[in-house]
Amino acid sequence: MELRVAGIVKESVVDGPGFRYVIFAQGCEHCCKGCHNPDTHAMDGGYVVDTESIIEDIKQSRYIDGVTFSGGEPFLQAEAFIGIAEKLGELNMNIICYSGFTYEELIERKDKSWIKLLGLIDTLIDGPYIEELKDLSVVFRGSDNQRIIDVKESLRQNKVILADI
Ligand code: SF4
Repeated sequence: MELRVAGIVKESVVDGPGFRYVIFAQGCEHCCKGCHNPDTHAMDGGYVVDTESIIEDIKQSRYIDGVTFSGGEPFLQAEAFIGIAEKLGELNMNIICYSGFTYEELIERKDKSWIKLLGLIDTLIDGPYIEELKDLSVVFRGSDNQRIIDVKESLRQNKVILADI
């Protein structure tokens, strides 16, 4: 399946704990003021990659601790990310996903693909970037409103459970 990406970083240390393979989705409609990645907004920007080639590339990346979906907005290409996430599950690889939507918004949309993708993610860093709440001291987040959520536990308990990373 095709995925439109803004870029891929193979060994990031700023997008979650450890060394991470980061897929930056192309396309975002949140228009956060002060966004650091405006080049990722256009739905027809970036370039197209085959999800199978991403999986193969991840398999070759021996030193990574996990994979991060970032953006742009990954949920706008949920089907392609589902395909990647399912394969990563078979490889026992943990997945962190950033979204400009909050956890509650993702649930309330009642979109089958979004719910399925959510169920395949271990940790969600949610919500838009709010420039007024910018906080350089918070790890892996841009602004203080964003939460680091244990998705599997949140789905199980039907309420937001924060992750300890
Ligand atoms: S969700 Fe992320 S990529 Fe999209 S506008 Fe906000 S900060 Fe930028």
